[in-house]
Amino acid sequence: MIVIVGGGPSGMMAAISAASNNNEVTLIEKNEHLGRKLLLTGGGRCNLTNICEPEELIHNFSKTGNFLRNAFKTFDNKDLILFFAERGLKTKVEEDGRVFPVTDKALSVLDLLEEELKRSRIKVLVNTSVKKINVSQDAVTGVLCKNGTIIEADKVIVATGGLSYKATGSTGDGIKLAEELGHRIIPVKPALAALTLKSIFPERLEGISLNDVKLIVKADKKKVMSEKGSIIFTKNGISGPITLSASSKVIDCADEGKKVSLEIDIMPMLDQKEFEEVLIKKISGSSVKTIKNVLKEFAPTRLGDLLLELSRIPQDKKANQLTSKERKDLIMLLKGLKFDIKDTVSLEKAQVTRGGVSVKEIDPTTMESKKVKGLYFAGEMIDIDGNCGGFNLQAAFSTGYLAGL
Ligand SMILES: Cc1cc2nc3c(=O)[nH]c(=O)nc-3n(C[C@H](O)[C@H](O)[C@H](O)COP(=O)(O)OP(=O)(O)OC[C@H]3O[C@@H](n4cnc5c(N)ncnc54)[C@H](O)[C@@H]3O)c2cc1C
Repeated sequence: MIVIVGGGPSGMMAAISAASNNNEVTLIEKNEHLGRKLLLTGGGRCNLTNICEPEELIHNFSKTGNFLRNAFKTFDNKDLILFFAERGLKTKVEEDGRVFPVTDKALSVLDLLEEELKRSRIKVLVNTSVKKINVSQDAVTGVLCKNGTIIEADKVIVATGGLSYKATGSTGDGIKLAEELGHRIIPVKPALAALTLKSIFPERLEGISLNDVKLIVKADKKKVMSEKGSIIFTKNGISGPITLSASSKVIDCADEGKKVSLEIDIMPMLDQKEFEEVLIKKISGSSVKTIKNVLKEFAPTRLGDLLLELSRIPQDKKANQLTSKERKDLIMLLKGLKFDIKDTVSLEKAQVTRGGVSVKEIDPTTMESKKVKGLYFAGEMIDIDGNCGGFNLQAAFSTGYLAGL
């Protein structure tokens, strides 16, 4: 008998692959429904993987990414897309290789997985929380549930997720269970999180989104990352896909005690000189236009007003009366608006948890614990975290599939 603890994407996939070998499988989920976090993914559309080359998958994970090599070899992004296609759910590829179901609904991914659990005759116990893994002579013997039930098993796969969005059921139980059994735990912290900024600007810019900008992360004034994409200003900081990716770098650098700052290049397609030429052309063609009006062509009004304030240029100044210094100051801001980072958003609101069961405690070819025979781990509770773009779900599915085998 194989018991799987946790009915998220990794646990469901583990159950399906374990059952494919004619094993008797029981999936235990503490919520009333399976896959609650899965339903939140991709803004409810579920960015289930990324179409990048399989080798690229690993490069989209933080330091421990290499651990996933075998899991991806066994079940990579192409296998996952095929898995869904063969069962009737087609996918489509969007910007940056992000893969979504054609239905644009995370629910259709969950429905398909639940259908497959049924088809594979997997016993699913919901509203059942596992509180202990029973072990005898360094080998699992089963699990003890909170309601007092003991379920015997010769293999147990723990797939209880990370520690963010606790209302979905990801409360770190499996990490505690693994620790109790002597596994080394890497301290947990947020990954893929929005950033709060020290400056007072964000609240004035709240709600503004900027597309095709470049976000540059600097640590002790040295550039450590730059990425193009979209950002959105929140009440006290910034969010959006490239911010989430940048947050991992920010966390790493802050941990090393470095002072981290951000720059937003609103005009990344032009260098400073080219941009100045464009601006001069716009200005010379309009003797009556104010600089406020000219700026509207490059930035949303509220942002343009802020840039004028920062460069001490009156909004009603005629554009063709700008001094060369004023023009240069404006360009500097449009090409490098600077913010100091106050913090990353709390672990609770992060999309992914960094840390968890150390990869050194797990055999990467099987996902079996090196400490307890018959005990396996899968998904986000392992110390792996990937970029935004479908990588975390792919890791959950791949590690679940391998553990199930
Ligand atoms: C808002 C949001 C959006 C996201 N969007 C994306 C995206 O588009 N693409 C992407 O790749 N990743 C995305 N992620 C990340 C992705 O959702 C996770 O990496 C993934 O869900 C991890 O899967 P998992 O199965 O390991 O854990 P989880 O999905 O957390 O599932 C763990 C399950 O275990 C259950 N459980 C916990 N403890 C116990 C216990 N003691 N007994 C029984 N059951 C237990 C929980 O109730 C839960 O159902 C997003 C995350 C968030 C929060």
